[in-house]
Formats: sequence, C-alpha cells, structure tokens
Amino acid sequence: MMLTPASYCRAAGKRVERKSVTVRAQLVHDSSVSLQIDNAFEIIDPQTNKTVFRASRFNEKIHITNGALAFGKRLTFPPELLFQPTRAEFFRLNGVLYRGSLKLIVDQNKILAVNYLPMEDYIKSVVPSEISKLWDYEVLKAQAVAARTFTYQHRNVNSDKHYDIPYGLQQYKGVIAENARTSWAVDVTFGQVLFYHDKVFPAFFHTVCGGYTEQGEAVWPTAKGLPGVTACSYCSNNSYFIWEHKFTRKELADKLNKAGYKVNSVDSIEPHEKAPFYPRIRSLTVHADGKRIVIPANRFRAICGYNVIRSSLFTVTLSGNTFTFNGRGWGHGVGLCQYGAKTLAELHKDYLYILEFYYPKTELKRVY
Ligand SMILES: [Zn+2]
Repeated sequence: MMLTPASYCRAAGKRVERKSVTVRAQLVHDSSVSLQIDNAFEIIDPQTNKTVFRASRFNEKIHITNGALAFGKRLTFPPELLFQPTRAEFFRLNGVLYRGSLKLIVDQNKILAVNYLPMEDYIKSVVPSEISKLWDYEVLKAQAVAARTFTYQHRNVNSDKHYDIPYGLQQYKGVIAENARTSWAVDVTFGQVLFYHDKVFPAFFHTVCGGYTEQGEAVWPTAKGLPGVTACSYCSNNSYFIWEHKFTRKELADKLNKAGYKVNSVDSIEPHEKAPFYPRIRSLTVHADGKRIVIPANRFRAICGYNVIRSSLFTVTLSGNTFTFNGRGWGHGVGLCQYGAKTLAELHKDYLYILEFYYPKTELKRVY
C-alpha cells in the first residue's frame, strides 16, 4: 500500500482530483421537504435518464400528489427525481446545506431524500459531526478511517437499496460541520479502509467504552465476524465515563408497557447473561407480576432511552421503590472508543496504532 498525503496529486503541473466513489446518504423520510438550489440545476428522471426540468435556481416545498412528486403551481413529476446542480454542487434541504446531488423518491407515501456525493466529501462532514475538530490530528485520522470503513462496508451490502447509509447511523451534518483540520485528516487518509480477514467490516465506533469494548454480535445478533474486544483504560478522564439513572418501579413498568411487555410493577432486575471475561451485561431478567422476562441489554437500552441507560456496562440495585442503575461509558461499546482514541493521540500514538488497538488484527488498504 502506498499512502500519499493529499486527496489530489499533481500531474503535468495541474491539480487533478483523485477519483473517489459515490455514497448515497439518507437525509429525511417525511411527507414534504423544502429544497433550495441557488445555482443552475437540472431535474433528471432516473427511469429514463432524461432531463425533465431545468432552471437557474429553485426554492420550493415539495410534496406528494397522487403518488407523484409535486411542487410549484401545477407541476407534478414522476415518483423519483434526481436534482442535479450543474455548477456549484450544493443544495439546501430543510435549511441544511449539503454537497452533491439529491434524489427524491416517493416511498410509503412519504418523500425519501437521498444525498449522492463523493465518499471523501461525505467523510469530511462525518468526522467533525462525530468528534471535536479540535482533537489531535491522529484521532481525527483514526475517526476518518473508521467512518470510511463503516460507510464503505454499508455501500457494499446495500447496493440494491435506495441508500447506503440510513439517517442517524453515524452523524452527518452537511457542509456546516466541515473545517480545515478534519478535512486534512480525511485527505491524508484518502481511500484508506480497514479489512478483517480480508473483508471490509462495519467498523463501529462509540463515545466512551467505559473500560472494555464489546463484541458486535453481542449487541446486534447479525453483526458476526467483527474484530475482537479490547480492554481500554484511556477513556476514564472525562465526564461521560460514569453515569447513574434512577427509575421507580412504576416508571420502569411504564417503559416496558410502551414496548409491549404488559407489566404492572417491576419486582426486581438482575443480569441474565454477562460477557465472558469483562463486566458487560448482555441480557437482563426482569421479574414483574410473577413473570420472568429476559430482555437483551441493547433492547433494554432502546426501551429506556439510549441516552438514559447509556451503556450495557452497569449494575442495578433496588432500594424501596427505586432502581438505581450505575454504569460506565456511553454507547454500544463496539469498535473504536472515541474518548479513548483521543487520549491515545494525546499520548503521541499515531492513527495506525489507535486503529490496531480498537480493531485488533485488521489491515489497512487503499480501496480507490
Ligand atoms: Zn474506552
């Protein structure tokens, strides 16, 4: 592998953009969208590949009429349209500025908005959307490779779907997030992707592991064949390391009821399954109304709120009518621990060391 320190090279004295690949990022799925384009653009019907509309600017609310996309006074269009800016490749969707082009698709009587843009441009927004642009360069580079690997793997497996990356799977805030430091970190790692056993894998990352990362399969049963876990002592120096939350019996019963479990009052909670060599809970037993309900830890977090039960690394005690959850870390715990990686970079470890630490036995390659 040859690594070069910029996203472009000079050939015959001329700056030449290096070829990336296109990413399709889901932006919204809603009954209407507001779209603004301040430059010349065309609207293409992807079915026929023909231009159906062309103008110098656009500022409309788009909705659905009789199963077709509609905007303006009288215009209705096919159920799928590609808005392609022809000069500056920018558009504003619901007030947020994005690069690239936009496909709108009528999907389940809502508008599915998908942003098409080069992978490297996408990662330049994801990195500062995920972590602080002020962190050391080596952690910014590690995050760039992790996000690119994650995206590249999703691109491979979702090629038959409308988009590669669903909204919210990783943070993507559009152009406003971009800045020189994180864009540099993306440029110097151009096209670099991690492989595990010769396969690109979903390189998950999270805020704080709390001392031990977790196997992907323990969180999502389909996430098989990911790199192993790591004991991480580098993320304990921030305010997210420890968390506590209290629920009354009634509050917890309400949460479980909303999730379809039908309980009146929770009697007790205990770990059902733990990770083999480290203190993560993989499933819980909830005793309620004489019933015994086993709930996977990730499902329990979803029921209570991912930002309430912040991790699966916790203990639970009962005093009177109150359950107290004391935990460590924030996030699912799989893959790279962002605050741990930040500390490693401050200890002058380079991004290759950080990636190997959180994704053991992986190999870095350039894929384009
Ligand atoms: Zn950690």
